[in-house]
Amino acid sequence: MQAPSIGGITLPRGNGAVIRMARGSSLSDFADKIDANPASMVQALFHLGEMVTATQSVSDDILELLGSEMGYEVQIVSPEDEDRELLDTFDLSYGENEGGEEDLQVRPPVVTVMGHVDHGKTKLLDAIRSTNVVAKEAGGITQHIGAYQVATHLNDVERLITFIDTPGHEAFTAMRARGSKSTDIVVLVVAADDGVMPQTVEAINHAKAADVPIVVAINKIDKEGANPDKIRQQLTEYGLVAEEYGGDTMFVEISARQRTNIDGLLEAVLLTADAALDLRANPNMQAEGVAIEAHLDRGRGAVATVLVQRGTLRVGDSIVAGNAYGRVRAMLGDHGENVAEATPSRPVQVLGFTSVPGAGDSFMVVEEDRVARQIAERRQARTRKAQVANRRRITLEDFNTALQQNKVEQLTLIIKGDNSGTVEALEDSLMKLDVGEEVNLRVVHRGVGGITQDDINLAVITDAIVIGFNVKPVRGVQELADREGVDIRYYTVIYQAIDEIEAALKGLLKPEFEEVAVGTAEIREVFRSSKFGNIAGCIVRSGEIRRNAKARLLRAGVVINDNLTIDSLKRFKDDAVEVREGFECGIGLGSWNNIEVEDTIETYEIREKPRA
Ligand code: GDP
Repeated sequence: MQAPSIGGITLPRGNGAVIRMARGSSLSDFADKIDANPASMVQALFHLGEMVTATQSVSDDILELLGSEMGYEVQIVSPEDEDRELLDTFDLSYGENEGGEEDLQVRPPVVTVMGHVDHGKTKLLDAIRSTNVVAKEAGGITQHIGAYQVATHLNDVERLITFIDTPGHEAFTAMRARGSKSTDIVVLVVAADDGVMPQTVEAINHAKAADVPIVVAINKIDKEGANPDKIRQQLTEYGLVAEEYGGDTMFVEISARQRTNIDGLLEAVLLTADAALDLRANPNMQAEGVAIEAHLDRGRGAVATVLVQRGTLRVGDSIVAGNAYGRVRAMLGDHGENVAEATPSRPVQVLGFTSVPGAGDSFMVVEEDRVARQIAERRQARTRKAQVANRRRITLEDFNTALQQNKVEQLTLIIKGDNSGTVEALEDSLMKLDVGEEVNLRVVHRGVGGITQDDINLAVITDAIVIGFNVKPVRGVQELADREGVDIRYYTVIYQAIDEIEAALKGLLKPEFEEVAVGTAEIREVFRSSKFGNIAGCIVRSGEIRRNAKARLLRAGVVINDNLTIDSLKRFKDDAVEVREGFECGIGLGSWNNIEVEDTIETYEIREKPRA
């Protein structure tokens, strides 16, 4: 059989062999695995219509496409699989030493409160925590750490229950998205005067998808018009049948505001846990669990609330959670008290992480700091790689193409300009564009001043295109935008901006000219000369500065003049044709004298942009 040839390039033949590759691998990584020449793979891919370099991370699709052309079956290893393999290399895995029957001890249930907005979730969480404080800790000042434990009595035995105190569905789904299960039971709050609402149904669906039993709290029974039976009736349609109707779901009537029957609800939670779940864990192992909340605190550094799920977490433990690691310096409970040991289902705030873990990240304690650091570092490297590989965001050209293929209906913009008048004028004119029913335009943010990191981050989240009207990115931000694949379009004339956006919205983007940055220089000193006008003493920050190049002057990211020329260029006393990055030079901008220290001179060329 002949070796496969793509566009005349001969490559190894796979014969259906399976190649496992991490998400975000490059052609070079692929070539390594099959002992091929990376350059031929770049060429082969070029013939398949994709232009990438050998070391660039490529998408799953490209890896699979190229693989199949060569007769390999490419399997992309998911981050979870990779993580399992990573832990394997350290001889670790979650739930490893869970132990046998004899090691398991009963642990408190972990509860999330869900339900429609305004049905009383927050009020209920407040009511529970203030009526049932764990006795030994009473008196401390309540700290919101993202979860708390309360004590209650069932058959004269004191039992604990843990509540996640960020009500709503986001925390619940964020954790599930990260593959960790933190909730044992969902308390579904339904207002007796309102009934089943869209988010009630959503909550039921989330809980069912996660296979988590539900206890229904019919709230606001103190209100006139409260009709608990109607709620019972309504919920049967969603498969929640009350015990009194022959089903197995517990319904409890409460008033969060008047704190009526809170104990009844807690009892129902425990009864449901005992009937439906086997909540036991081995406390005698290195702790594992999940981070439920984390932030950076000015004084204390990274602060993370973790929920211990197995084992016992102790001060001094080496810990790794997602991409973050550290050593537990101190633990605080939900009354701000110091905690030396946290057993299963106990939420504690952990100090000592070197960076902030993500909510929903699993954590585990490992033997040594070194291992924690290595695991975290490898995960970080992997995250970076995956980000780069999947960073294809929308550009105006993509939008144009996608529109022609009927794939999009909304163009999202962020508008930054040099003054509020122009920003408003631009937004107004854009919003007035008449482009038919199919597409619409949404401006998610507008503002005055240079394009900042926040603008780019927002663009990433909302898949927006950034419009810079007479403004430029502040230092470092263009690099961020390039890294994240955010399209920034610069305009200095309003109608040009409008024309282009209109053309894109109509799917008619014309061939265009693009500006290519040549170099930037920072003004360090201003020399005033009566004969030559002001001369800027500069250092070239990037690229090179050439005499006669087109230039613009920026002050704190705002374009002061867009239509300048490098009129004179000197190295010391001598005229120069070009000066490169890192060197000092003197620049004269012809008759333009309005220059100040710290201004940036940017030079550029206009080239016709090749169409994708
Ligand atoms: P969430 O959006 O589900 O967190 O709802 P909140 O806890 O913020 O409550 C929404 C509103 O309902 C607030 O004005 C509460 O004071 C009120 N509320 C909550 N529980 C009760 C209750 O049991 N009875 C009455 N009458 N009002 C309540």
